[in-house]
Amino acid sequence: AKNMGRQTYCLFQEGMGDKVRLRREMEEDLETAIQDGQFELYYQPRLDLHNGLIASYEALIRWNHPNKGLINPLDFISVAENSGQIIPIGKWVLHSALEAASKDILDARISVNVSPVQFRDNAFVEDVRSAIKDAAISPHRLELEITENFLIEDDARAHTILTNLKSIGVRIALDDFGVGYSSLGYLSRFPFDTIKIDKSFISDADRNPSSSAIIQTVVGLGKALNMAVVAEGVEDLERLQFLAQTGCDEIQGYLVGEPTPIGSLCRLVPAIVKD
Ligand code: C2E
Ligand code: CA
Ligand code: CA
Ligand code: CA
Repeated sequence: AKNMGRQTYCLFQEGMGDKVRLRREMEEDLETAIQDGQFELYYQPRLDLHNGLIASYEALIRWNHPNKGLINPLDFISVAENSGQIIPIGKWVLHSALEAASKDILDARISVNVSPVQFRDNAFVEDVRSAIKDAAISPHRLELEITENFLIEDDARAHTILTNLKSIGVRIALDDFGVGYSSLGYLSRFPFDTIKIDKSFISDADRNPSSSAIIQTVVGLGKALNMAVVAEGVEDLERLQFLAQTGCDEIQGYLVGEPTPIGSLCRLVPAIVKD
């Protein structure tokens, strides 16, 4: 069922005409989804390896399509980015995640993924400010996860926006670190609180010595730059042990918990949520 969205939307790839038609069809479906509220947030815990507590929950969007079933973000986010629909969707994500964070069950930080398109939107910083105010939570509990895609667009503008967000008190994480064109220069030029090592390095770490070397190096960098280092996609105890040995601060992955609707979360992790 996991790949259902991908399958249903990629059934035909015969030609350009079909691709355009497919995209248009999805944009129309997205419009309905926005109006009817067909989106849902799942939450995945991040475990603090130093104290064994849940440090944060990452909000991950799902689309409950009335005919196509549950659709994963990778199957619709890029369409929504191209059409601009990511702006209302992203606003909804931010408000819902912060509302959830104001409930007892999510008594930790909340991490929200932000598209580069949202970041570039002039109203974004104000949206963040008002979402925090509406939810009446401390701004320090919100961490925004951004990818380097945003940083390569326009350095000066990226810097201004990040500085404005930091001045509100929001934390910033550099997501998917190590894939794409990640430059070490970003780490010194931008005020990140957290570096998230992409899960491709983690899954590779037992077979590929250079992946484990890269992980160790990024953990060292994080320490030197006073940034928390999070490893994504941790699926087994061996990885946990390796990451704990390197001094990695937090892990996230199926080993700790799968992304889960908030209603099921209370049954899943109450024992390890901090009081
Ligand atoms: P991401 O931010 O890198 O999120 C991590 C992805 O890895 C999630 O996929 C998560 O379900 C998956 N994952 C977690 N633990 C494990 C594990 O142990 N093993 C493996 N193999 N995978 C694991 P998901 O939920 O399908 O999200 C995919 C991407 O979609 C995210 O990648 C993020 O870039 C984007 N995304 C998700 N929600 C939002 C959103 O609200 N807004 C925006 N703009 N993008 C979002
Ligand atoms: Ca993320
Ligand atoms: Ca990733
Ligand atoms: Ca990502």
